[in-house]
Amino acid sequence: MSDAETLFEKIIARELPADIVHETDTTLAFRDINPQASTHVLVVPKTRYRDVAELAAADPQLLADVVATAARVAELEGLDDGYRVVFNTGADAGQTVFHVHAHVLGGEQLGFFGR
Ligand code: C5P
Repeated sequence: MSDAETLFEKIIARELPADIVHETDTTLAFRDINPQASTHVLVVPKTRYRDVAELAAADPQLLADVVATAARVAELEGLDDGYRVVFNTGADAGQTVFHVHAHVLGGEQLGFFGR
């Protein structure tokens, strides 16, 4: 991983504040500062990979941990009617933080997405 450090490493190291909702040995979940749904939580692996493709290639078990944490967050947040898990990947998708993260969105009827 050669890119500059991101904000998320500082959140993981508790050097920046965040509203943490769940933590495991390998992942951290915290509320997005600019929520796009009633519930909007980010799940990050504690080890940094640039995006989900890099994570999947390097450490499939850690990707599974991220998805399992997303499911646990949905349970903890009471998203019983459903939720969405999104990995923005690269510029066209609007990825702005290059430490892979899953967006967990729910708590309301979500619109279709795309263009
Ligand atoms: O997928 P993308 O890279 O665009 O998402 C980054 C997300 O990180 C944004 O939704 C942004 O609101 C969130 N963010 C945050 N806390 C920060 C910086 C960014 O929750 N300190």
